[in-house]
Amino acid sequence: MSFVIEDVLVRHDPVGRRVPVLFDSPHSGSAYPADFHFACPLAALRQAEDSYVDELFAAVPEHGGTLLLALFPRTYIDPNRAVDDIAPDVLDGPWPEPLNPTDKSAAGMGLIRTLVRPGMALYDGMLTVAEVAERIDRYYRPYHFQVSEVLDRLVARFGAAWHVDCHSMPSYGPGGRVMPDFVLGDRDGTTCEPGFTAFVAGMLRRMGYTVTVNDPYKGVELVRRTAAPAQGRHALQIEINRRLYMDEETLEKSAGFAPLQRTLSALIAGICEHAAGRVAQRAAE
Ligand SMILES: [Zn+2]
Repeated sequence: MSFVIEDVLVRHDPVGRRVPVLFDSPHSGSAYPADFHFACPLAALRQAEDSYVDELFAAVPEHGGTLLLALFPRTYIDPNRAVDDIAPDVLDGPWPEPLNPTDKSAAGMGLIRTLVRPGMALYDGMLTVAEVAERIDRYYRPYHFQVSEVLDRLVARFGAAWHVDCHSMPSYGPGGRVMPDFVLGDRDGTTCEPGFTAFVAGMLRRMGYTVTVNDPYKGVELVRRTAAPAQGRHALQIEINRRLYMDEETLEKSAGFAPLQRTLSALIAGICEHAAGRVAQRAAE
């Protein structure tokens, strides 16, 4: 079963047995809204997408998990930012509520991006308060509603839930650093039980991949918002290096795509087993 809000999101529910795991891909969307009046080349926006992350995790429902995908581009509105992380100078008038711009907004990469990449402006003017409010209501809130709805339902049924927030990253990171194959983020050990991060890192390393934890990406708004490990709510961000599966200039899949998809299917199976096992263990205690 799938639930769709056209051009906004799709949620694929488990086929067969259910396990308390939600995977979400907030940045793989490429349905560019008609009112997105960007002033930069479309190609630059497309390079900001987490291309193919939706496809890489397509096996989630057959392993009993739920898979939620954003269909809109992250450069239109970013579900992985706080709703008040808006730079006031992007707006043509006063925002009706207090704003809380962080260093992401200061870098042009807040809820509403002002830069596609450092030095390249996204718009050639300001946005109206009404259009930003509409992006929040039509895209951001429905996405977050699904995330919390699914996790609440899983916690009610199983007593715990695991949220895996899935992304991809350029092969060169901050300061031109060569990135490892995977970066896991649990906001310095605060968003899930430590055993879960160690389990995922261990599985990937045994398959021969290089993995860092919270270095340099620690996880942002989605895992921050859903995590409450003391209440059985575990959240982990996974960043996959794009060089493993695509050409970062042409955005075409590479020969590495199929093997990586198989790796991730094994990882999904492992995570679903881990969650099911932890729930059974808790029930027996
Ligand atoms: Zn991302």
